[in-house]
Amino acid sequence: MPKQITRAELVGAFGDPIDENPTGIMQEAGFAAQGLDFRYLSIKVKAGDLAAALHGLRAMNFRGINCTIPHKVEVLKYLDEVAPDAKLIGAVNTIVNDGGKLIGHNTDGKGFLRSVQDDAGVDVRGKHVVFLGAGGAARAMSVELALADASHITLVNRDAARGQDLTQLLNRSTNTQAEFVQWQGEYAIPKSCDILVNATPVGLYPDVGNLPAVNLLTLRPDLLVCDVIPNPPNTAFLQAAHSAGTRTLDGLGMLVYQGAAAFKLWTGVDAPVDVMRKALENVFG
Ligand code: NDP
Repeated sequence: MPKQITRAELVGAFGDPIDENPTGIMQEAGFAAQGLDFRYLSIKVKAGDLAAALHGLRAMNFRGINCTIPHKVEVLKYLDEVAPDAKLIGAVNTIVNDGGKLIGHNTDGKGFLRSVQDDAGVDVRGKHVVFLGAGGAARAMSVELALADASHITLVNRDAARGQDLTQLLNRSTNTQAEFVQWQGEYAIPKSCDILVNATPVGLYPDVGNLPAVNLLTLRPDLLVCDVIPNPPNTAFLQAAHSAGTRTLDGLGMLVYQGAAAFKLWTGVDAPVDVMRKALENVFG
C-alpha cells in the first residue's frame, strides 16, 4: 500500500541567539512519541526583524511559534489577542496562529507552578515565596504564583527600580501581598519563607561554581529551594541547599512544563512530559 503523504504542521522559535536553544529537541521528541506530524524549527530572527518574521509566519501557515530573547516583550504590539496572565506579565513566549489570528500566551510561570505542584508536591496556596531576582523569569513566575493564591511574595533584587516595579504590579493586580528587598551583601532567608527561588542566572553554565549571595546558614530543612537554571540542572546552589538538608527543585521541570503547555496549545494533545524531560536530560547530561 502506498503511504499517504501529508503536509507537516510547522512550529518553532524566533530568537537571537537561538542556535543552542534545546526546546526543539524536546518538542520533536514529544511530537514523535504522540505520532504527530509536526516540525519544530529554531529560527534566528534579529531584533529589528520581528514584524517581518510574524508576517512570514502567517504567510507560511505556521501553527504557532515560541518567542525568546529579545522578542518576548516587543512581540505584544503585533498580536491580535493576548491571554490575561501574559498581559499582566507583559511578555509572551508562545503564539498560536488561529487561521491568521495571532494569540499570545506566556507559559513560563505556568511551567514553574506545575513543577512546584507535580514534581515537589507543594501547594502554593497560602505560602510565602521569596524570589532572588526580578527579571523576566521572576516576573512570569511571581504573577502565576500570585494568581494561584500564594499569600506573600518577597522580591530580592539589586536594581531597585526593577524590583519595585514588579512589587507594585503584584500589589495592584493580584491578591498577594508583595514586598521588595534591596539585595545588598548576603541575603538572610526570613523564617516565614516557605519557598525560595533563584531566578537569577548566577550558577548558569559556564559559571557553574557561582552561588547567589545568600546566607547559607539561614537555609532550613522545611524550606523548598528551587533554582530555575536549566543548565546545569543540579546547580551549586541546589547542591548547597541539599547539603543543608532542604528539599530542592531543579529548572528542568519548568522548562519541560512550559513546553508542554505550548505543545497542548498548538496540537490540542496532552504532551508526553516524561519523554520530553528525558530528551532534555540527554542534552544537559
Ligand atoms: P533577566 O536578564 O530578565 O533577569 C536577570 C535577573 O537576575 C535580574 O533580576 C538581575 O538583577 C539578576 N541578576 C543577574 N546577575 C546577578 C548577580 N550576579 N547577582 C544578583 N542578581 C543578579 O533574565 P531572566 O529572568 O530571563 O532569566 C533568569 C534565569 O532564569 C536564567 O538563568 C534563565 O536561564 C532562567 N530561566 C529558566 C527558565 C526555565 O524554563 N527553566 C525559563 C526562563 C528563564 P538586576 O535587575 O539587579 O540586574
